[in-house]
Amino acid sequence: MIIAIDGTVASGKGTIAKRLAEHLGLPHLDTGALYRLTGLGALMAGLELTDEAAIAELISRLDLTDTDNPELRTGAVGQAASKVAALPKVRAALLAAQKDFAHQPGGAILDGRDIGTVVCPEADVKLWVEAALETRAARRHKDLLEKGETLTLEAMMAQLQERDARDRDRTTAPMRKAADAVLIDTTDLTIDAAVEKALRIIEQADHQTN
Ligand code: C5P
Repeated sequence: MIIAIDGTVASGKGTIAKRLAEHLGLPHLDTGALYRLTGLGALMAGLELTDEAAIAELISRLDLTDTDNPELRTGAVGQAASKVAALPKVRAALLAAQKDFAHQPGGAILDGRDIGTVVCPEADVKLWVEAALETRAARRHKDLLEKGETLTLEAMMAQLQERDARDRDRTTAPMRKAADAVLIDTTDLTIDAAVEKALRIIEQADHQTN
């Protein structure tokens, strides 16, 4: 079974994906980490974040399995990731690895922005995870403070809005809910409740296909 999870930044999609993967015993790919690795690689190589050809070429030299690197989780790398993610050649260079991961025997869970629309339009279950901007900003702000970064809540809200807009407005694989994706709004949900809801949606889809 292939499960595609998309949604806005800090909506909780990554946490839901991880918990579902543990519960269902499926491999999980956080596709945002691939764009973060690319953004970090470009920053480290001193490339302009608009230099599409050089950044796309750099991807062949990156270790795309190095997703636990804590540097990937900084605000600066998140911003760089969303800039390089707007470049069509970068997206094309990362597509095959994502499709291969999805199509491994037994299935997989992938989370990102374009999984249900571009990477796996054939997914068995598609979830679209959303939450109010204020809630998302408060969550992400707390995470960054714990990592020692200093940023006001207002600046955090502005950053999230900027990232959502860039993801939504790009021409290649813009972030959007697939027509057949089921919405989970996590604004007023605990993580446990959101995971429960996702599991019910998956069970229902499983019954329908069997
Ligand atoms: O999910 P995360 O915040 O780690 O993603 C970082 C950035 O990578 C996003 O802001 C988005 O621009 C990009 N991304 C994407 N498509 C995906 C996953 C992430 O464009 N499937």
